Amino acid sequence: MDQTTRVDVLVVGAGFSGLGAAIRLTEEGVDDLIVVERGADVGGTWRDNSYPGAACDVPSHLYSYSFALNPEWSRAFSPQGEIYDYIRRVTHDHGVRDKIRFGVEVTSAQYDENRGRWTVSTTAGEYDARVLVLGVGALCEPKLPEIDGIDEFAGPVFHTARWDHSVPLAGRRVAVIGTGASAIQVVPSIAPVVEHLDVYQRTAPWVLPRIDRKYPGFERALYRRVPGLQRAVRGLQYASREFQVVGLTRTRAALAPIKALGRAHLAMSVRDPELRATLTPHFEIGCKRILLSNTWYRALSRRNVDVVTTPISRVTETGIVTSDGAEHPADVLVVATGFHVTDSPFFERVRDSAGRTLADTWSSEGMEAYKGTTVAGYPNLFVLMGPATGLGHSSIIYMIESQLNYLVDAIRAMRDRGLQTVDVREAVQNAYNRELRENTGKTVWLTGCKSWYLDAKGNAPAVWPDFTFTFRNQTREFDVSAYRRTTVDRPAEVPTGQEALR
Ligand code: NAP
Repeated sequence: MDQTTRVDVLVVGAGFSGLGAAIRLTEEGVDDLIVVERGADVGGTWRDNSYPGAACDVPSHLYSYSFALNPEWSRAFSPQGEIYDYIRRVTHDHGVRDKIRFGVEVTSAQYDENRGRWTVSTTAGEYDARVLVLGVGALCEPKLPEIDGIDEFAGPVFHTARWDHSVPLAGRRVAVIGTGASAIQVVPSIAPVVEHLDVYQRTAPWVLPRIDRKYPGFERALYRRVPGLQRAVRGLQYASREFQVVGLTRTRAALAPIKALGRAHLAMSVRDPELRATLTPHFEIGCKRILLSNTWYRALSRRNVDVVTTPISRVTETGIVTSDGAEHPADVLVVATGFHVTDSPFFERVRDSAGRTLADTWSSEGMEAYKGTTVAGYPNLFVLMGPATGLGHSSIIYMIESQLNYLVDAIRAMRDRGLQTVDVREAVQNAYNRELRENTGKTVWLTGCKSWYLDAKGNAPAVWPDFTFTFRNQTREFDVSAYRRTTVDRPAEVPTGQEALR
């Protein structure tokens, strides 16, 4: 039988958030730390999403850790491979690679109230940790469409985040289901090589031009020599994106210019009026994530590409049948149908001391945390990219780094005050979420479209409904008074999660 590994801080996941935690905590002097990662390498979503055309739609300088700017980005919007290499390099340069145990998947994590510690079971033994940091990502568990007969399809079927590179597409008939951020990158990349492509569109997205360019050698050299210049460019990129927040969360009229740009982009890119009508979005811009592409509309205008809007009835061995009875033959089926965000299966693996899972806790009230990070009843748990931290308009790394400030300060406060456990007070968490819900109620996300921002009840608990610098300010310091606490020397006398410290 496997031995239990005792550790002070256990981090789950080695993507941007988990690695960031490992780096920042190591710098803070937390040496007793292990990262467990189910994959064979670091990189999280940037390791998994290797589909043709995968790239970031947030500018490169902004989509980097603030403590590891990269003057070598080759273009304004980085391709997946470069971001993956960047994460690997940062892991190496910050000396945290040897903290990571690869091929280790967490199967359950339960808080033990008597000991004030977490018992974490994995596919490779058990861990006993005082602090548990979840860096499992938000857009990482592929959501497969429930379509009749999909299991009977004779050819390969794969999700964009699990791209099967062994399947040749040249000269074959391919069906892509979905028209979100992943599909709009895949389709233009594979359309020139396949014999025929059917794109199944349920909702036409808003697509803006992508102002991309290569960074010439002299510009990269300049960023290398004058890091302040790169910071200034990053600052401008940040500020320009933050402008969108006004329209997304407060005044709809502020979205009018980008709406006009979206319409003009469609009109200039698609000559055929029938196709243009098919591709015209019928929901408020910003309700779903606004997509960026210079090649999407052109790809859909190709002779070998059809946009199918008739709903899918079922999949057969040889293709897709739509509700009008038409059969659309296909050799390969690509599902670009997004991710489980508000219903991540990981939430079923995390239990409080009574055995109640995060999924259960969140099924009644919705996905809620305090400052996106801590959850009442789950002491010493820090959820990175947790509830209400997602973004549609800017770099998620900015939000992650805000949470890391909070996490590092929490660990510092626990160390300085000799605390064994911290458990956010339910009343504090509730008040925080009441205000969040009020803010979310005014956003464009609740204007009637469907998106990964929303949960089954139609609330938008996944996204941050304000300027991102407001979140940065909120998470600057760990507000210890918001927490019930037990001390290291008297864990049994001051029971965790009870009324003792009220
Ligand atoms: P998504 O935005 O959730 O889009 C899923 C697509 O699949 C939608 O078009 C949806 O249609 C469609 N769909 C879902 N179930 C379906 C079904 N049963 N039948 C037919 N169509 C179905 O997923 P995604 O494109 O993977 O993107 C998710 C998020 O990941 C993005 O918003 C972004 O935050 C991130 N991402 C970023 C990048 C980047 O930086 N470049 C790239 C990829 C992804 P409806 O619209 O009708 O629901």
